[in-house]
Amino acid sequence: MKELIAKRRRLLKELMKCSNFVRGSINSVCAKCNRSHCICEIKNSKRAYRLTYKNSEQKTRIVYIPEAKLPKIRKMIANYSKSRKITEQIIETNIKMFKKENRRS
Ligand SMILES: [Zn+2]
Repeated sequence: MKELIAKRRRLLKELMKCSNFVRGSINSVCAKCNRSHCICEIKNSKRAYRLTYKNSEQKTRIVYIPEAKLPKIRKMIANYSKSRKITEQIIETNIKMFKKENRRS
């Protein structure tokens, strides 16, 4: 049981490290006409980047991302998948702990 408690503590620490997470995907549109496939007569190579995600009501939301912040957002998205993997491991650990508790009583 001690090892399991220690394992969970370790996982929670890891979870804290990647707590700055967002869910969603990055896409880009033309900065001028706002479309992914530009329709401007004079093609403007400037792209606007945005994060598309679903909020808690499953509504699609868009957040514009300054180009300089792209690495940061990418890191935040990576943190999300990391945090999910860690959560899965915590669930496994909690199940093991639950089973052990049951065996005792
Ligand atoms: Zn355009």
